[in-house]
Amino acid sequence: MAADRRIVIENCSIATVDAHDTEHASGHVVIAGNRIESVGAGRAPEGLQDVARRIDATGHLVTPGLVNTHHHYYQWITRGLATDHNLFDWLVALYPTWARIDEEMVRAAARGSLAMMARGGVTTAMDHHYVFPRGSGDLSGAIIGAARDMGVRFTLARGSMDRSEKDGGLPPDFAVETLEGALAATEETVRQHHDTSFDAMTQVAVAPCSPFSVSTELLRDGAALARRLGVRLHTHGSETVEEEQFCKELFGMGPTDYFESTGWLGEDVWMAHCVHMNDSDIAAFARTKTGVAHCPSSNARLAAGIARVPDMLAAGVPVGLGVDGTASNESGELHTELRNALLINRLGAHREAALNARQALRLGTYGGAQVLGRSAEIGSLEPGKLADLVLWKLDTLAHASIADPVTALVFGAAAPVTASFVNGRQIVEDNRLLTADEDAIARATREEARRLARIAGH
Ligand SMILES: [Zn+2]
Repeated sequence: MAADRRIVIENCSIATVDAHDTEHASGHVVIAGNRIESVGAGRAPEGLQDVARRIDATGHLVTPGLVNTHHHYYQWITRGLATDHNLFDWLVALYPTWARIDEEMVRAAARGSLAMMARGGVTTAMDHHYVFPRGSGDLSGAIIGAARDMGVRFTLARGSMDRSEKDGGLPPDFAVETLEGALAATEETVRQHHDTSFDAMTQVAVAPCSPFSVSTELLRDGAALARRLGVRLHTHGSETVEEEQFCKELFGMGPTDYFESTGWLGEDVWMAHCVHMNDSDIAAFARTKTGVAHCPSSNARLAAGIARVPDMLAAGVPVGLGVDGTASNESGELHTELRNALLINRLGAHREAALNARQALRLGTYGGAQVLGRSAEIGSLEPGKLADLVLWKLDTLAHASIADPVTALVFGAAAPVTASFVNGRQIVEDNRLLTADEDAIARATREEARRLARIAGH
């Protein structure tokens, strides 16, 4: 696109989520090419050249696009199973089915996952994919292609598992890769797809699955690989009491100490869940600037517990929000996680002071950008940043009687998305994707879910 083509958005409330939480009751945003050119109160500056489009956004709140920091797209075709299980029982129930996935299934599931999030205001998505059955095709390529087609900014966390039942792990032997195979394939994926530019649409992270499904060597060598290649590291950590017990029995220490011993704390690391953290674990994350992907719905669904988000924020830990895989969060939406993060944390020790609406919005935007290592480019509405933003419609039955727009967005029903822009390009209009056919995606995911169920014999 030509760098000087402008889109002017006016007459809207704006929550910039910048360092001062600057807000405008009625303001404007000007997009020039793929960047934000100006944000401010009142109408846009007079005399702008090359204005391709002017949007009267009366009745809307404009925020930075939402950033999802943890997900497993393939699970889109195994939703609604093992619904009354805790994490370990749920994993054991689902691994045999997951081990039968192929490229077509993964492509359909990725499109379903991406579509659901994009039309709910996600502009930067991620997929932690760690199931690579032998002979299943180019799964990483299928996922990255799906994100590119949808027009969403994207990080693939190339996962892996090499600790199966025979080595004391949780996955069955047929569901894992070898240590050498996993490392080589991860390096190849980084070399093929990782883009280091400011406006990168695709990045890759090194992401062994969890302490109970990967060897100590894979954690150690994976960390070394990521640092040699200059990419980020991602995994699951401290999700359940069972995981804590597992680490203590096998390694003689809790998950955070185990991660530290394998090189897995650092400002280039973000970890999903972090529910069972004591004060010294939180201090270690704060000291090393290790990021957290908070996944409140999934933690509730699997009865994992409540992550200590207020304590993490007070200590200076970067925290973003995650949907988590849709086999443990069937909704697959991130905008509703703003509300769930706020409500669930108020059930914890800090009660009504746990999180407020602005903090919840920050978790879903700037916080996410921080943990993905992209806070210089996205996560807030500021001149020079990439034009990833959402127009939330707040003047209908659901929200019109709530005076404060950020309160309406976070506390109220899931707000309709009138428009969502990624890299200056509109991908959603009136809650429908412009970049894909939702109905076709729904049909394909249903067919692939049925095919997988048939193959897996349930
Ligand atoms: Zn997960």
